[in-house]
Amino acid sequence: MSEEGQAGQGGGCLFCKIASGEIPGKKVYEDANVFAFLDINPRNPGHTLVIPKKHATTIMDMGEKDVGKLFESVRYVAEAVQKGTKAEGLSIVQSNGKAAGQVVTHVHVHIIPRYLSEGPVSLEGVLGVKKMPEETIDQIASTITQNLGAAQSPQKGKDEFDF
Ligand SMILES: [Zn+2]
Repeated sequence: MSEEGQAGQGGGCLFCKIASGEIPGKKVYEDANVFAFLDINPRNPGHTLVIPKKHATTIMDMGEKDVGKLFESVRYVAEAVQKGTKAEGLSIVQSNGKAAGQVVTHVHVHIIPRYLSEGPVSLEGVLGVKKMPEETIDQIASTITQNLGAAQSPQKGKDEFDF
């Protein structure tokens, strides 16, 4: 999924241009690694996007330390969004790939203020719960664990996973 053509100085990437200031964004936070700004199509007032300054299409294209820094900043900004908007809840959404609904191909994390009055929309509400036989569930778990080797595990060298 990596799109090297968009890496580096921004290329044609909208979010790289916002992070660099080439295109103005309503900035709410910035540090060495991330840039946070208000979504131009807010689902609620205070709907904020947190992006890594270094271009990556999905979180799988990022190093684990960079993902860690991104989500540390998400937590930091989320607290300010919650306090600033007096939100009763926050939806934190991060989509990877077109099938997941990703539109801009630069990693971004949505922080969306939520209120009890609007009727919570949960992940279950969007996709519905799928019932599966035990053997299918075992098979799916196995195909995932067999692919863990390809990932850079923070647990490497520590205790084995115990499923
Ligand atoms: Zn970008």
